[in-house]
This record gives sequence, structure tokens and C-alpha cells, in this order.
Amino acid sequence: MALGLPSQLPATPAIGDLVRGPGPTFSFEFMPPKTPEAEQLLWQTIRELEPLRPDFVSITYGAGGSTRDTTVDVTERVAGETTLLPMAHLTAVNHSVAELRHVIGRLAGAGIRNVLAVRGDPPGDPTGEWVRHPEGVLYAEDLVRLLKESGDFSVGVAAFPYKHPRSGDVDSDTRHFVRKCRAGADFAITQMFFEADNYLRLRDRVTAAGCDTPVVPGVMPVLRMGTIERAAQLSGAPFPAGLRARFERIADDPAAVRELGLELCAEMCRRLLDEGVPGLHFITMNRSTATREVWQKLR
Ligand code: FAD
Repeated sequence: MALGLPSQLPATPAIGDLVRGPGPTFSFEFMPPKTPEAEQLLWQTIRELEPLRPDFVSITYGAGGSTRDTTVDVTERVAGETTLLPMAHLTAVNHSVAELRHVIGRLAGAGIRNVLAVRGDPPGDPTGEWVRHPEGVLYAEDLVRLLKESGDFSVGVAAFPYKHPRSGDVDSDTRHFVRKCRAGADFAITQMFFEADNYLRLRDRVTAAGCDTPVVPGVMPVLRMGTIERAAQLSGAPFPAGLRARFERIADDPAAVRELGLELCAEMCRRLLDEGVPGLHFITMNRSTATREVWQKLR
């Protein structure tokens, strides 16, 4: 059922068009705040990053659909009160199709045309069994179809350089990714990774499968040793051994760890830009300093 939305949407640029444009896009990812203090920090960060004039910013959707209203509220506020182009993430966890349609309707009503359609992880243990809502959808590709039939949305999907942890092997992961693109996705953004080759191998696999959907790398610098410990959870793969050894040599000097993390991230971004990536999507963790520092190194 179409929601009769197209007439409300055309004034907003489609991220799918931007990433197919001539230059690489630069974008930032934020998380919906859970406390008043976190909300204040988020808005300070947004204001500090706004002068960098990113092509778009995205706001994630909490695990288990927990931040449904906050995600929509923040996205709406970014659209109404800043110069930034926002994209809302939307997940299928714990939502019936009727609830998903309701969220989609709210986004459209607020003039939000860009949505990242991801399946989401189960609440609690993200690696636990994924249980479909009895009246919900099963895969992100179903969410893509739901958005596309609801209006003139520009829809992004997730891609996984090391394969999705639930995928049996890289081939089936690629096949399912391509299905999701063929269901109507306009672009994709990757899970974070720490070596350019991991992205480039994914891009080669997708191209070899005959899919030309632009895949934007998602990047985040290592700022402390804890990020390396959490790498498997964050990226879906253990932190690369060669890089880990470089960090371990300076592990007792937090400032040196941070500087190495920023430099390695900038170096990887430079290589990705040389390889002609359609854009760079920075995961900010709602803080501006590291993102601005990598940005400055790139410039
Ligand atoms: P899907 O594409 O549905 O894939 C899930 C698994 O099913 C994969 O193993 C896939 O290979 C397999 N599969 C897909 N289609 C089929 C099929 N037809 N038949 C058999 N198997 C199939 N999570 C949040 O909760 N909130 C967010 O805001 C959020 N934002 C994200 C942003 C990015 C850029 C990325 C990379 C991830 C994000 N995630 C977010 C995490 C994401 O929700 C999880 O990684 C989730 O487990 C997978 O989502 P997906 O959209 O890739 O799922």
C-alpha cells in the first residue's frame, strides 16, 4: 500500500543520487541520546561538525527498536533546525509491518526522504537468535521493499567487509547483499573495518556479482586500546594482527595510541579515496574532536 507520500518528498536531496555524483561524499553517523546529558553532548557535536558541511548525517536506531521515537525526533530536528541533510536508520526488530509503516509515515511527514534499512540485532545479546516479529519482516530486503512501495525514499542498506557474522560464508553473504540491492536499495554503507583491503575485497565481490550499487565505507579511528579489544564486536572480525602489534608497542601511552589511531584512519581514508570510493561515512560516537582531526589530516 503506497502512503501517498511522493508529493511531500521531492524537495529533499536523495543520498542515492549524492553518492553517485562526481565527488566522494563525506558524512557523519550519530546515535540517539539516552539521557539529557547525552542529548546536550549530541547537539554540541552536531553544531561543531556542521561547519564542515558534510553531505549528510545519519541517526542510528537503537537495538531492539528501543529508540524509535528518539531516532525520528532527532532526525526531524536535524532537518528542521540545522543546515544538514539527515538520514534515519530503521530496523525491523520487534516491529510489526503496521508499526514499521507508522514510523515510515512519521519520517515522510517530517520530510525525511533518506532511510538506512537494516534488520537490526536482537535486544540484549546481539549475537542471540533473531526472532521475527509474528507480523513483521524477516530480512532487510523486505524493509527495503516496504520503504520503496511507501514513497519516493532513497534507501541505503548495510554491507559487511568481513561478511555478516550470521552468514555461513562470504559467497552467500555476497548473494544476499546483492538481493537486498536488487530489492531497491540505492546505496550501501559498510560496517567499520581497519584495513582498506577489506573494503576493496568486498567491492570486488559485489562488482563480480554484477551489482553496481555504490558502497560507502564506514570508518572509525581507534582512539584507545579498548576499541581494539572490542573490534570483533564492532566490526565482525578480530583486529588485524599487524596493526595490533603497532598499538601494543605504545599501549601504556594513551596519547600516542590516539595519535596512531587517527593517523592510521586518515591513511586508510586516503587510500580509499585514491581507490575512488563513492564517499566516507564517519562513525562519530557522538563526539566531534576525533572526526575533525581525521578530517583535517585528510585535507
Ligand atoms: P540482512 O541484510 O537482513 O542480513 C542478515 C543476515 O541474513 C545476513 O547473514 C544475511 O546474509 C542473511 N540473509 C539476508 N537475506 C537473506 C535471504 N534472503 N535468505 C537467507 N539469508 C539471508 N543496527 C541497529 O540496531 N540500529 C542501527 O541503526 C544500525 N545501523 C547500522 C548501520 C550500518 C552501516 C551497518 C553496517 C549496520 C547497522 N546496524 C544497526 C547493525 C545491523 O542491524 C546488524 O548487523 C544486523 O545483524 C544485520 O542487518 P542487515 O540489514 O545487514 O540484515
